[in-house]
Amino acid sequence: MLTYIVLLGPPGAGKGTQSKVMANELNLPHISTGDIFRENIKNGTPLGRLADTFISKGQLVPDDVTIAMLRERFTQSDCKNGTILDGFPRTPTQADELEILLNSLGGRVNLVLFITAPVESLIERLAGRWTCKAGGHIFHESFNPPKKKGVCDIDGSELFQRDDDKAETVLNRIEIYKKQTSPLIQYYTERGLLVEINGFESIEKVSAQVMAAVQEAKNSQP
Ligand code: ADP
Ligand code: AMP
Repeated sequence: MLTYIVLLGPPGAGKGTQSKVMANELNLPHISTGDIFRENIKNGTPLGRLADTFISKGQLVPDDVTIAMLRERFTQSDCKNGTILDGFPRTPTQADELEILLNSLGGRVNLVLFITAPVESLIERLAGRWTCKAGGHIFHESFNPPKKKGVCDIDGSELFQRDDDKAETVLNRIEIYKKQTSPLIQYYTERGLLVEINGFESIEKVSAQVMAAVQEAKNSQP
């Protein structure tokens, strides 16, 4: 059965947006390490205070901290039938650790969706991104506007703009992605798991590509 799906791609490619679509369609939990860090920052936990020192500069949170947090999330029972992993792994070390973790659960990464988009469009998307405080639902002021400005269509909570979506931090995040995360393209290509998705289309068209890739991966499983 197709269970563990990883979304890979630069910041702003549409990983969170497509994760929410897939989580609904496939009835799997959406695990976003960025969301878990932001929740910890909001609650002022020690993990949140530590993570914030890296996130505010657009840097990755160190592997040991991030891996421990993901391991902890995987102790919850909703992960046992699979998950949509959004923003994890982001380094080859994290990918190795994910393999070990899933092995111990009798699973493995079944599919990696690599979403691409041109840099100018990533910058435009992040500059206009509005995220909901309660459920992390994602909007864009031009490309996917909420019905009422500043309010989430889905749960009515307030929308906010992320501090790390400021232009100077975004450029740093894109550089960090190129240096630290893009080696995962080869990592998962070598394992025959990577499917490239053209993220430079409407949200609906990208979702159609994503769901077609999921269906094809399901069909090709023994
Ligand atoms: P990521 O999780 O990869 O950083 P998001 O899913 O949060 O990216 O999307 C970044 C921004 O771009 C959001 O404001 C979102 O509404 C918008 N967006 C996502 N996909 C598309 C798309 N295909 N076309 C236009 N805007 C998009
Ligand atoms: P995201 O919500 O996925 O855009 O992540 C926001 C920020 O959280 C990133 O820029 C990183 O600083 C941090 N972060 C999220 N996931 C990871 C990860 N897997 N490894 C390291 N840092 C992460």
